[in-house]
Amino acid sequence: MDDIDRAQALETRQRQEALARFVSARRKPTSPSLTHCAACGEPIPEVRRLAVPGCRLCVGCQAQREATL
Ligand SMILES: [Zn+2]
Repeated sequence: MDDIDRAQALETRQRQEALARFVSARRKPTSPSLTHCAACGEPIPEVRRLAVPGCRLCVGCQAQREATL
């Protein structure tokens, strides 16, 4: 019983820590640019990542998204 309690406490703590990390990452105003496009998975050129801080999409997907907005 004690082992199960400890395991559950550990699991709960790990889940809370993971959630806290997730929330703080989302709250960051400028997250680091992705190395690969979030939509299609194509590599994002370093020049674009430096030019557009926090960019998540490749040029093609960004253009597509802006065209549909
Ligand atoms: Zn893309």
